[in-house]
Amino acid sequence: MNSENEKILNQSVQFIKSVGPKRAESFKRINITTIRDLLFYFPSRHLDRTTTLNTSKAYDYLLNGFNGEITIIGTVVEKEKLHFGKKELFKVQFRDSTGFFECVWFQGIKYFTNVFNAGDIFAVSGKPVISKFNALQFTHPDFDRISEDESKKFLNTGKIIPFYRIPKELKTTNIGDFSLRKIIGSTVENYANYLDDTLPEYVLKENDIYGLVEAVKNYHFPESREKLSSAIQRFKFEELFYLELLVALRKHNYKTKFAGHSMKVQTNLVSNFLKTLPFKLTNAQLKVLGEIRQDMEEPQPMNRLLQGDVGSGKTIVALIAMLIAVDNGFQTALMAPTEILADQHAKNISALLKNMSGIYSGREIKISLLLGGQKKSVREKNLEEIELKEADIIIGTHALFEEKVKFQKLGLIIVDEQHRFGVDQRARLQNKGITPDIIVMSATPIPRTLSMTVYGDLDVSIIDEMPKNRLPVKTILRGDRSLPDIYKFIVDKLKEGYQSFIVYPLVEESEKLELKAAETFYKDLKDSHLKDLNVGLLHGRMSWREKEEMMYMFLAKKFDVLIATTVIEVGIDIPDANIILINDAHRFGLSQLHQLRGRVGRGTKQAYCILVTKDEYAVINNKYKLDLDYLSQIQLDRYRAAVRMQAMINSNDGFKIAEVDLKLRGPGNIFSTQQSGFPELRHADISQDSDLILNAKQKAFDLVREDPKLTLEKNSIVKKNLLQHYSHNLKYAQIA
Ligand code: ADP
Ligand code: MG
Repeated sequence: MNSENEKILNQSVQFIKSVGPKRAESFKRINITTIRDLLFYFPSRHLDRTTTLNTSKAYDYLLNGFNGEITIIGTVVEKEKLHFGKKELFKVQFRDSTGFFECVWFQGIKYFTNVFNAGDIFAVSGKPVISKFNALQFTHPDFDRISEDESKKFLNTGKIIPFYRIPKELKTTNIGDFSLRKIIGSTVENYANYLDDTLPEYVLKENDIYGLVEAVKNYHFPESREKLSSAIQRFKFEELFYLELLVALRKHNYKTKFAGHSMKVQTNLVSNFLKTLPFKLTNAQLKVLGEIRQDMEEPQPMNRLLQGDVGSGKTIVALIAMLIAVDNGFQTALMAPTEILADQHAKNISALLKNMSGIYSGREIKISLLLGGQKKSVREKNLEEIELKEADIIIGTHALFEEKVKFQKLGLIIVDEQHRFGVDQRARLQNKGITPDIIVMSATPIPRTLSMTVYGDLDVSIIDEMPKNRLPVKTILRGDRSLPDIYKFIVDKLKEGYQSFIVYPLVEESEKLELKAAETFYKDLKDSHLKDLNVGLLHGRMSWREKEEMMYMFLAKKFDVLIATTVIEVGIDIPDANIILINDAHRFGLSQLHQLRGRVGRGTKQAYCILVTKDEYAVINNKYKLDLDYLSQIQLDRYRAAVRMQAMINSNDGFKIAEVDLKLRGPGNIFSTQQSGFPELRHADISQDSDLILNAKQKAFDLVREDPKLTLEKNSIVKKNLLQHYSHNLKYAQIA
């Protein structure tokens, strides 16, 4: 590595032409201190001649029916403020060598008045129309000021001009569009060549990507669209490559550093259990079970994600894995996200095991349930059973892993619905000298690109098939005007033995308000549409025991209808609950809607999911689709709601739904890379760049397989870069 180069790049930005101490200070406030920092301050977008027209061409285009986005470069001729009754309008007239065009604003007029001054040159972008006075007109366009010099170069040589974000910290020292372009231009010209690459030569070659110097130059001042996109590609690849290296190292570490247990089927415990099941396992269940069994047999610790839609039969699979652990003389723990669920798991598992002799080593398999609200004596007895290894299957919440709980011989942990059963928790278990196998169960399908990245250190098993006896749930969208008909449907279906969930409309934050709203809603229905029915109410203010009580009463058919909050998202099976009515469906997230729908259709009858929204939302309307960039927040929300409901209607497949969700929300809102201990992505987009992710993953995993300690000369750059720039992500992926 060339330390001379580093020294040069680590100089203060102050030494760059036309920066100086004052401007250096303002750069510092946006975390740019060195020349290197400035080289990596990339444009937020570029102005490209290929999308730029002159005024006369633009007229032609519009007259021929074109209505896309264009850019015109023009000089300000004049500006004026117009009044129409109470309304104000601000208009700027521009010219270029072929004619005139105008821009109008209805908002922010005061601000814009100061921006546009006669003689200034702007690149204006948007979708113009021809006004009724035959003017070429942009409404609320994007615009960027450029210098005369730049505009000439741009028009004559077809240069692509970069635009940088100019935070207010820079503006205070008079750094604006042109001056920043100038400063960065001279920095790139004079210093980019000093950059040492952060990817090895062979990686660049194999993947046919730009070296760092070329990439930096072309990101700032590309000669063509293609070169710009190659430059961006390089940075995306680099970022994903290092992310995947960390993933690969973490996985390698886990598998090699910690000794696990080798467990295989010993007795006929499992086969006896299978005989007691009233159904055959699906092929998908068998496949997944095979993967798990193989992992358990290997002496390295298992770290596996078990995915499958609600009702696909994950619990049985997990239970079989638990029985294998028990069969090998180990304890096994099941961690649920809530106490209700822990309790339900315990009840389900007891029921499932009751039909078999349940004998292991001459005694019954013992299940121990650890809950917060337990009496001290019960809890102490439980803890003792665990410590003396009288308990085989231990069920609880995250409190299972508190100091006080002393497992004797913990071989397998099943984690239900907590993807973020994170590295830290795993590490804590290891620190105690225990390295059990881990299976994380999830009914929230994780899109492929995510399971290749932030969950990439887990092995993945997917149950992609539902038990045969199930009919897909019918999903229907209605406006709230149809509610009376829907209630009538619920009442009618009662004759066929259908029970119904009604998810009541969302109420704002306050618990007090929620309770009142729930009670009012309940009372109104009891007094009208559901007068002759037995109706239960489950609300957020109840303790989990009360909620559970309600659920069991519902199961026992004490109620025909259960009015509830979203807490019913998870919970015990109610086989005859085959209708779920979701009020305010437009306000729910997609994965939540899917999860709620999973509460019905557990039996063999046709089940219905009725999404009820405000009337105006009930018309699924994709007319905005093409103009997404021009939507107001309200329109955008409505558009997204429409997409969510369309997705629900179109598909029962959780994976498809998760993909839509990822696209709608963007990956940032579904997971945070930081939470998972991986670096934040600046260039790559997990919801878009799946090919690139796949490639980067392959290359990174190959590298770690060949050279896990990164000792080969050809990987020295990788090692140096990891230690230098990713040191805080290396916690579970030591390379030294
Ligand atoms: P998940 O945990 O994936 O939501 P469960 O394991 O709770 O699903 O299974 C849902 C229901 O389906 C349970 O009542 C279970 O007994 C039943 N079940 C599981 N596997 C099968 C199968 N292969 N055939 C029929 N029913 C099954
Ligand atoms: Mg389940």
